[in-house]
Amino acid sequence: RAALGSLGKSRAKFISAEESTGVTFDDFAGQEYIKRELQEIVRILKNDEEFQDKGIYCPKGVLLHGPPGTGKTLLAKAIAGEAGLPFFAANGTDFVEEVKSFGIYQRLSVAASRVKDLFASARSFAPSIIFIDEIDAIGSKRGGPDVGGGGAEREQGLLQILTEMDGFKVSTSQVLVIGATNRLDILDPALLRKGRFDKIIRVGLPSKDGRLAILKVHARNKMFRSEAEKDELLQEVGELTEDFTGAELQNVLNEAGILTARKDLDYIGREELLEALKRQKGTFETGQEDSTEIPEELKLRLAYREAAVAVLACYFPDPYRPFTQTDIKTIRSQPNMSYAETPGKVFNRKSEYVNSIVRACAPRVIEEEMFGIDNLCWISSKATLEAARRAEFLILQTGMTAFGKAYYRNQSDLVPNLAAKLEALRDEYMRYAVEKCSSVLSEYHSAVETITDFLLEKGEIKAEEIWDIYKRAPRIPQPAVAP
Ligand code: ADP
Repeated sequence: RAALGSLGKSRAKFISAEESTGVTFDDFAGQEYIKRELQEIVRILKNDEEFQDKGIYCPKGVLLHGPPGTGKTLLAKAIAGEAGLPFFAANGTDFVEEVKSFGIYQRLSVAASRVKDLFASARSFAPSIIFIDEIDAIGSKRGGPDVGGGGAEREQGLLQILTEMDGFKVSTSQVLVIGATNRLDILDPALLRKGRFDKIIRVGLPSKDGRLAILKVHARNKMFRSEAEKDELLQEVGELTEDFTGAELQNVLNEAGILTARKDLDYIGREELLEALKRQKGTFETGQEDSTEIPEELKLRLAYREAAVAVLACYFPDPYRPFTQTDIKTIRSQPNMSYAETPGKVFNRKSEYVNSIVRACAPRVIEEEMFGIDNLCWISSKATLEAARRAEFLILQTGMTAFGKAYYRNQSDLVPNLAAKLEALRDEYMRYAVEKCSSVLSEYHSAVETITDFLLEKGEIKAEEIWDIYKRAPRIPQPAVAP
């Protein structure tokens, strides 16, 4: 039995079977199909021999991928909790280390030995579970761009994971490795091969029903006036929280609880919930007509954001939703641009869907261009999420892409290999959208600057004024962007 001390070197956290993670599948709500798949694995883990007689083996590795806060860690803990197995939790970044010595940062070749230690410890407690969060930190594509440095060392760590996983015998003393990432696209394909992470499960944003179910889980220990009122309020919050992750939903309820306590009330009410929701969305209105309350730097960022949104709206006008005006008087995580409601039915062509993905990227592209990638702020944070959501809609629900004619109501209908295909295609649209958006903003840079100045001076700008600036602005020709 390896001494637990060696865990110190791998920096992993250890939870014994007796202690237990205390998490069960009941704690995870929404996306029932994920639980069904994982429940099957738990059954195999528990009854190892019986299943082996039938020739059914547990996968060696399960990879959970999807946006942060969607419950991947929670699911890993639930597997350990349900199976009653010891749990070793590590983070991909734990394996790579820089140490300052003699005043310079040196990369230590610790990745491989840390991986080795972790697997040795887990094996000595087998059957057991290893969870590696942010596995992309150590398992990204070899020979790819060396984001953040430490490439050679990371490679050693990755090779060691592959060796360890190949080395297990499928036997009663199994170690199940669970990996989590929000960057499936940069993972080394070698990790995804048979006998390694051969079960890939996408954990996506919850649907409306999913959100309600998650809210119910987190409302279990909260006080409401009555069951009926609780159901009604949660239903309402569920409707207002499109694009929210499980973690964000949990925050809304916690925040509402805190507000309730602060007001010395006994029960969470509608007002507290809506207030908490507003805070979570980051959509606090300044409540004042003039913009003097907003710090100058933020005003500048807002002005650039609205200017970029305006230029894209002129370049790719939406025939069904003409824009009317925008301002920099309120701080919201989404653009302030307003649009006219047009009556009648909308018949969008594929190009219009694609253009809307390009438009959605504008806040993020301009902020990166003007302020730098390391200096982004939350006013552009919803942009890429929105663009990706539109791309997924185009792929899954319109039948207009290379994905095929099949109609998928939502992601939970996708089997894993289709999920990978979806992701690849979505990333292709995203690449085009970002490049195209960036090209349009370079071509019309002068218009962006003029609209920005206008907004900083007047606080708001109308559609006619935007069109006027756009049409008159000098343009800088750009190379074509390949779709
Ligand atoms: P990830 O590992 O995907 O970043 P986490 O598992 O750390 O996300 O999620 C953070 C917290 O959010 C969880 O501990 C849980 O309380 C809550 N949460 C997220 N998704 C769900 C879900 N589907 N059901 C219930 N709670 C959830």
